Amino acid sequence: MALYIHPDIQSLNPYVPGKPVDELQRELGLDRVIKLASNENPVGPSPKAVAALAEEHASLHRYPDGGGYRLRHAIADRWKVGSDQVILGNGSDEILGLLARAFLAPGDEAVMADHTFVIYKMEVTAAHGKPVTVPLVDWTHDLDAMARAITPRTRLLFVCNPNNPTGTMVDADAVSRLMDRVSQDIVVVFDEAYFEYVRDPQFPDSIRYVKEGRNAIVLRTFSKIYGLAGLRIGYGITTPEIAGILNRIRPPFNANSLAQRAALAALGDDDHVANSRAVNVAGMEQVGRGLRELGFEPIPSEANFLYFDVKRDGRRVFESLLREGVIVRHIEGTMLRVTIGQAEDNTVFLHALKRVLTV
Ligand SMILES: *Cc1c(COP(=O)(O)O)cnc(C)c1O
Repeated sequence: MALYIHPDIQSLNPYVPGKPVDELQRELGLDRVIKLASNENPVGPSPKAVAALAEEHASLHRYPDGGGYRLRHAIADRWKVGSDQVILGNGSDEILGLLARAFLAPGDEAVMADHTFVIYKMEVTAAHGKPVTVPLVDWTHDLDAMARAITPRTRLLFVCNPNNPTGTMVDADAVSRLMDRVSQDIVVVFDEAYFEYVRDPQFPDSIRYVKEGRNAIVLRTFSKIYGLAGLRIGYGITTPEIAGILNRIRPPFNANSLAQRAALAALGDDDHVANSRAVNVAGMEQVGRGLRELGFEPIPSEANFLYFDVKRDGRRVFESLLREGVIVRHIEGTMLRVTIGQAEDNTVFLHALKRVLTV
């Protein structure tokens, strides 16, 4: 008998992650591979986090603290919320899945941008919900149009801020107008994976809405500026009610003990964050200038990556760059996304791109 597969699941394609360095080295026999594909921190992890890991080794036979006590309290102190308002995830990706499962009945709608983090669509569909996509305007979320896309079936609304893959942000005024129009039967998800990189002072204080008792959740992660992507840990700040709902379906040991311990140390490592920001500012400048010299116009970015139109088949440019040992991300059509690296890697990328374009 044939396996029954729900049509929603059948409609999904496996997530394609950035190509791992080892894999490309094996395939092409290259000595040097530069990965600028997954918005990882080129500085590496916080040294304090790495040191803290060692302290956890002797306890690895124990299950993690399922309640994540120390880390949740540290996050709560940092953002001046109650510890019952913090939920930990196996990456913030996992919290996106919990939200979809918790709030969507079959056919319920989730409003999102048409050009944003692909996990939203995947999780909503896997939960048998219906993604409702709203076109970006100037590569930016159109929050007014997103508010208009709300129907009686809408349960979730995703704001990726800054947006991946475009790097653009929506400001405090736009978010305030949105929140004036969204009713309390909808959960607004502010996915702020790149929050610590943002420089624009108009960036919204989205945690404010949580503190006001609005049905909202702010997602942050240790995978980006904190440099702990391999450990898989992120968090959400929300109302005690929503945290309680998510906790009903959260796998009990979703945040592992190494991740909890390293995240706690990374959260207190302000020097690492400041240094990582500075490296990104300088790299952003360097790569932006380099791309403009090659005739491209990268979209102004508040994150740690640049999105640009290569004005030719993006897949072919992506593949040619792979043969040069440089991994970037082909998003669609003529658009590529490149993560800002350390100066030397940025130079290698720009030279490789130049070579690829002239052959
Ligand atoms: C990287 C990223 C995340 C988080 O990833 P995790 O590693 O699962 O914490 C979430 N949202 C966006 C938009 C991202 O780019």
